[in-house]
Amino acid sequence: MGYESGRDHAGDLRLSCDVVVVGSGAAGATVATELALSGARVLVLEEGARVDAAEHGAMRPSESLRHVWRDGGFSVAAGIGDSPTINVTMGRVVGGSSMVTGGVCFRTPDHVLDTWVREHGLHGYAPRAMAPYFDEVEKHLHVETVTPDRRSRSTHLFDAGLRKKGVALDSLRRNTKGCHGCGRCNFGCPEQAKMSVDLSYLPRAAAKGATVFSHCRVEKVRLKGRRAIGVEGRVLNGPNGRPGGKLVVDARRVVIAGSAWVTPTILRRSGIKHDVLGKKLTLHPGFRMMARFDEEVEGWKGAMQSAFSDAFEERGLTLVSVFIPVSVIGATMPGIGPDHVNNARRMKHVAMFGGMIHDEGGGTVMRGPGGEPFVTYRMSRRDRARMPDIVRLLGETFLDAGAKEIFPPVLGLERGLTPDAFRAFDFERLPARRYECSSQHPLGSARIGSDRRASVCDPDGRVWDAEELYVVDGSVLPTSLGVNPQESIMAVATKLAWTMRDRPYA
Ligand SMILES: Cc1cc2nc3c(=O)[nH]c(=O)nc-3n(C[C@H](O)[C@H](O)[C@H](O)COP(=O)(O)OP(=O)(O)OC[C@H]3O[C@@H](n4cnc5c(N)ncnc54)[C@H](O)[C@@H]3O)c2cc1C
Ligand code: SF4
Repeated sequence: MGYESGRDHAGDLRLSCDVVVVGSGAAGATVATELALSGARVLVLEEGARVDAAEHGAMRPSESLRHVWRDGGFSVAAGIGDSPTINVTMGRVVGGSSMVTGGVCFRTPDHVLDTWVREHGLHGYAPRAMAPYFDEVEKHLHVETVTPDRRSRSTHLFDAGLRKKGVALDSLRRNTKGCHGCGRCNFGCPEQAKMSVDLSYLPRAAAKGATVFSHCRVEKVRLKGRRAIGVEGRVLNGPNGRPGGKLVVDARRVVIAGSAWVTPTILRRSGIKHDVLGKKLTLHPGFRMMARFDEEVEGWKGAMQSAFSDAFEERGLTLVSVFIPVSVIGATMPGIGPDHVNNARRMKHVAMFGGMIHDEGGGTVMRGPGGEPFVTYRMSRRDRARMPDIVRLLGETFLDAGAKEIFPPVLGLERGLTPDAFRAFDFERLPARRYECSSQHPLGSARIGSDRRASVCDPDGRVWDAEELYVVDGSVLPTSLGVNPQESIMAVATKLAWTMRDRPYA
């Protein structure tokens, strides 16, 4: 009981439990904890390693990418047609993507929940019905408001530009306790101040007898007729952590929480067939704008994420502050040789802000080589038009604040743009593949709903036509949110766990 590593175990592994949870990220940790607290014998299987929070906080970004991130941070959704290719990042570790967040917490906006009720028949998900689940998650995550004094100069400059449009930034809320604003949250917190699920949830599950087994990759659900009776896969105890022994688990209930990126591949391998399985993946395509000012900005001083604006929601755009470590910014500055060195030297003068598109979902998760997900993304016409819109909005806001040079998220630019060059740049006709686009929010590839033809799972997360097989991760969210999703995912997971807790095994 507690934490075990498949890598330390020689040969095959056979285990049994009441509930097996596949994946230990935001959703998996939530469900495992809630069910362990209710007295179930819970086993959590995690493909990644267990990296202690203190150890992670002491890693260099390059070490974090290697030990904590899926594909070293280089997973991509291949753009189809006039769509960008999107770098999609995720955690692959005990704690999942929760380990690499910026700590931003949003409740699902009411208008999004209203859409779920109206268009997806999710009557138990109305804003008032969801409130207790958000309360519960916020209590354990220690969600607090980032006070304006923790904003960086970079964020203040963006705010000054935005105020010229009559809009002020609002303060973000984050799951932190004792954060001093060093800005390296994505690569581990040196103070263990970010309340990721390895600190806020899994220890409570372990204290109630749950076992978290790292280095265990689940390949498929074992089904007897329509009923799930366990899972099977490989223990990653071969040379260099490659697949070694066979993994077999007997369980009365199976809960899949492998993320919207992976879950469809596990279900398909298990023989689950459904027209929308793996389809409709949304990503919140994100863009980062950098701008150079005459003054020394030193944007790394202050909380990495402190403020946002939803004033442009009607245009499908949300703006969120961000500042990534200087070593990473340096590597992404344009130019080659002396030009690049020149740009990197002026880092102290660079401000940064981000934004995302509240997208319609053109992603498809397929099975790629070696069984790994292969994901494509066809951006809808509506979202395609939002790319130049968001890039202009971000850049013009910095210009209004007095920026002298703009570094838009455009691939192949050899240098930054002067204010005039930025305004004249034809973003509308720039091919989509030239936009530098990233995502941290895959959602919706095994959605819940009340119509079995339009959803993979019922409103309680049960895979239609299967028994004792549940999905609880970001893949169940039926639409994108327009805001960062961890709190929504965990609130939905709490709701699903409480329903499971009260339901006898089949
Ligand atoms: C860099 C970054 C920054 C982010 N910042 C924020 C933020 O500030 N605020 C916010 O709200 N959200 C943020 N997010 C998003 C948030 O972290 C995710 O939306 C959320 O964690 C997704 O939860 P999940 O349970 O669906 O998947 P995950 O948390 O990704 O967990 C899935 C887990 O399942 C494991 N797994 C997958 N396949 C298998 C298998 N076959 N066998 C065993 N285990 C498996 C994975 O290794 C992983 O640990 C960020 C994400 C990233 C990558
Ligand atoms: S900004 Fe705060 S939460 Fe993020 S790494 Fe630094 S101390 Fe930790």
